[in-house]
Amino acid sequence: MQVYKFGGTSVGTPERMKDVCRLITEDGQQKIVVLSAMSGTTNSLVEIADYVRKGNPEGAGTTITHLRHKYRDHIPCLYDTEEMQLATRKLIDEIFLDIHDLCGMKFSEDIEKEILSKGEIISTNMVTNYLKEQNVRTMLIPALDYMRIDKNGEPDMHYIREHLLEILDKNPGYDIYITQGFICRNANGKIDNLQRGGSDYTATLIGASVRADEVQIWTDIDGMHNNDPRFVEGTSPVRQLNFEESAELAYFGAKILHPTCIQPARIAGVPVRLKNTMAPSAPGTIINNEMQEGTIKAVAAKDNITAIKIVSSRMLLASGFLCKVFSIFDKYKTAIDMITTSEVGVSVTIDKTSRLAAIVERLKKIGTVQVDTDMCIICVVGDLRSKNTGFETLATEALRDIPLRMISYGGSDHNISFLVAMKDKQRALQALQKILF
Ligand code: ADP
Ligand code: ASP
Ligand code: MG
Repeated sequence: MQVYKFGGTSVGTPERMKDVCRLITEDGQQKIVVLSAMSGTTNSLVEIADYVRKGNPEGAGTTITHLRHKYRDHIPCLYDTEEMQLATRKLIDEIFLDIHDLCGMKFSEDIEKEILSKGEIISTNMVTNYLKEQNVRTMLIPALDYMRIDKNGEPDMHYIREHLLEILDKNPGYDIYITQGFICRNANGKIDNLQRGGSDYTATLIGASVRADEVQIWTDIDGMHNNDPRFVEGTSPVRQLNFEESAELAYFGAKILHPTCIQPARIAGVPVRLKNTMAPSAPGTIINNEMQEGTIKAVAAKDNITAIKIVSSRMLLASGFLCKVFSIFDKYKTAIDMITTSEVGVSVTIDKTSRLAAIVERLKKIGTVQVDTDMCIICVVGDLRSKNTGFETLATEALRDIPLRMISYGGSDHNISFLVAMKDKQRALQALQKILF
């Protein structure tokens, strides 16, 4: 079984949806196809939920009407038959009525998540109906019937696998199974999601569950580039990445992949291929277990990082100091990304700042605390085992004119990370591009 995932741009217009349908049916092989919402839709839904949060029903109403008109216009472009146009219009109207009703309720996070789920529900219904009209044996599997996160917000792998396999088992004989990316249920059975960009995660969770031959992530660019093309000119595609390398790049800001989507594929040993929907014959990037020795693969950057330096109130780092520091972050369920230590203190970075004030208050009891906001982690990824001398020098040489707040190396064989101010990010990425590639 193959698993294909198409992002927002890939299903962004009726024409693109038709292209996707051609692409998934031309080899005649059975597939599970994960779809995102049409591009821009989730952002509009976030906007609608925001209006509801702020008690502005008019604002929500205007955005709903705008979005609804857009979808109504798509229908005659997508379907040939009057019958399918009518059926799909009815379905979409019902979904928009639902959104409207949700907006009339008292705001809660549950309401917000239900509103956000509608984009993928609409796009998957549109594509399923199109395939049915084209006489392709197609089944829509609702993600809410099998995709689930546990009370820590982590995918419940056992539940997902068991329920998905049961659905597939009970419904054999279809050529294409369509399902929604991004959306899931949580431990309370409520509608939830796998965070923004989460359709990639849906695809790898499915790929791991069915032990797919390959998971293909189709997007709007020819694979993983060696630097962020939004900030650097002249980037080029990387043709192969090791699971660890791609996981580091995704986690440290390469937007082409959801931050944690590589883990399920890595654990199950399912290769992931990144492909370009706009240029299907381009080779893209293959992510697998292979390791190309002695090469630097790519650079990525993660924004909105906060650095915290804690200098011990004692003269030397007493035993137990680091343990106390970490237990404070653990108590407030705040993950640490980078860490550097010295004789007297420690610097760490976090990206979730909702509990920052409480953390700082506690840290002040064991030392002097300095907080720097608006920082950015720049991560250089490749075969960075210590026997490969010289790469660290090259990277630091590239950044010679840029103030470095932290450097972290040796935590894995695959990365060296630098913490810089966000205002220096683009300059840092460009300088690394010039020297490393
Ligand atoms: P989709 O909607 O298909 O999920 P995304 O917008 O999430 O697509 O991801 C694709 C985008 O990721 C590209 O258009 C590109 O701008 C951005 N991107 C950031 N870093 C990289 C990188 N290193 N390689 C390729 N694309 C990247
Ligand atoms: N539609 C969701 C988002 O925009 C999920 C995804 O596209 O992967 O974040
Ligand atoms: Mg994405």
